Amino acid sequence: MSDLRKDPTRGQWVLVRPSGGSPPVGQACPFCPGNEGLTPPEISAYRKDDGASDGPGWSVRVIPEADPYFRIELDLAREGVGMYDKISPRGATELIVESPRHEDTPATMLNAQWEQVLWMYAERIRDLKRDLAIRDILITRRHRQPGSRITHPYSRLIAIPIIFDEVRRKLTEAREYFQYKRRCVYCDIIRQETADEARVIWETPHFVALVPYAARAPHEAWILPRQHACSYEEALTPASVADLASLLGGYFRTLARVLGDPSFEMTLNTAPNRNAKVLPGEWATVADDYHWHIEVTPQLERLTRVGGIYVNETPPEEAARRLREAWSQPGHQPER
Ligand SMILES: [Zn+2]
Ligand SMILES: [Zn+2]
Repeated sequence: MSDLRKDPTRGQWVLVRPSGGSPPVGQACPFCPGNEGLTPPEISAYRKDDGASDGPGWSVRVIPEADPYFRIELDLAREGVGMYDKISPRGATELIVESPRHEDTPATMLNAQWEQVLWMYAERIRDLKRDLAIRDILITRRHRQPGSRITHPYSRLIAIPIIFDEVRRKLTEAREYFQYKRRCVYCDIIRQETADEARVIWETPHFVALVPYAARAPHEAWILPRQHACSYEEALTPASVADLASLLGGYFRTLARVLGDPSFEMTLNTAPNRNAKVLPGEWATVADDYHWHIEVTPQLERLTRVGGIYVNETPPEEAARRLREAWSQPGHQPER
């Protein structure tokens, strides 16, 4: 039995779980078209010609993770264990297979393919937020992570019965900023950074890509929608999705070219499930004070910290200038 345990001194949650022993990966890639039988039955997929589920012909396919951290079929149980708190890991762990093409990477995927992935992200978040046991959802996309067994392009969605520790910290900071200034901190960042320009990497009609003022890692980037909205899945329009797809593709192609295709982690930050309140009034102002966004951290495995303080040896202004200059050079399109 696994459970989420709270460390009362650090205020942090830990998932304690016996090792499930991930299923062995054979010679055949389980995410390639034609191998659908090697994965659990699909949750959702986009198919051009309405082909049968769990068969080929899809462009984006969502499946449950074979050895998930969080399971949808569990009951949500909150328990006190003496002075401690624990919760059952009720939730969902889903894999979003981004392309039928095994060799695709974030830098080679066509914008139209990225658009489909972005719509699928929204669809899965919307669907899971109907479940009142789920409080928070995070989508992460890792590229070339050391130790990853499957190279076929996919993202991971994790939906959990608590607020992720890192998200709670951001929500609290955003709320405090709003209470003090009556303005959204992310909207203020967009205003200041676009006026200043030193840390802006690229701007589009709907988004701004920038290196944050206090970037934790060299070439860390945030993608912020200009239009204030707390939830990704409610804010998308066909125009903004097309814009975001081209911006992501542009950033990943720039990374691949300037930095030699480094590993990275992308996270999609959206508001917690506002239907699933545990305490009345909890996160009541999130629509005003939180702002959905995407963060990309290259070479996560090389982050340096001293007692929790990150050490970044590339000034954000220099990183932004480098990325900006590389972005505007010719030959900036997908190879296919
Ligand atoms: Zn494959
Ligand atoms: Zn805002």
